[in-house]
Amino acid sequence: SIPTIALVGRPNVGKSTVFNRLIGERISIVADFPGVTRDRIYSTGEWLGKEFRLIDTGGIEMTNEPLMDQVRFQAEIAMDEADIIIFLVSAQEGLTDADEEIGHMLHRTKKPVILAVNKTDNPEQRQEIYDFYALGHGEPYPVSGAHGTGFGDLLDEVMVQA
Ligand code: GDP
Ligand code: MG
Repeated sequence: SIPTIALVGRPNVGKSTVFNRLIGERISIVADFPGVTRDRIYSTGEWLGKEFRLIDTGGIEMTNEPLMDQVRFQAEIAMDEADIIIFLVSAQEGLTDADEEIGHMLHRTKKPVILAVNKTDNPEQRQEIYDFYALGHGEPYPVSGAHGTGFGDLLDEVMVQA
């Protein structure tokens, strides 16, 4: 059967941008400020001939709810609906309280969690990805939704776990 992959991460980390990269189309709306998410949240993609379903949990937003309630709600959706979770953080903003909250919640699932560090736009930022080992979700995979880099290695790992 086709594996379902969920993208989880605090607002503005780049979920919609990464969603578009993973499916190879621009159907999700990338917001220039946090909170704009009238997005397409389900789609399908393919990697090396294997199909997958993708969910952007950021598109399922409880507007006007506190940030921590939103991230908890989205992590619950990912843990319920996905076979594999891509936990997205950002090299640009670094490790935040909301990242740690999501990280704690995701320790409750037995499903594979793959940590991806978005906004790793240049080689110097690759040094900053090591901070994210503290989340306890294993090796961080650097990606840049803006530049389209790192997605081959990330998808290889996702499909191995699928
Ligand atoms: P979401 O709230 O998690 O869905 O985040 P978005 O995909 O809407 O992106 C939030 C902001 O981060 C937008 O201004 C994007 O252009 C920007 N962004 C997304 N990916 C990258 C990236 O790889 N590098 C940089 N520098 N900015 C990015
Ligand atoms: Mg979004």
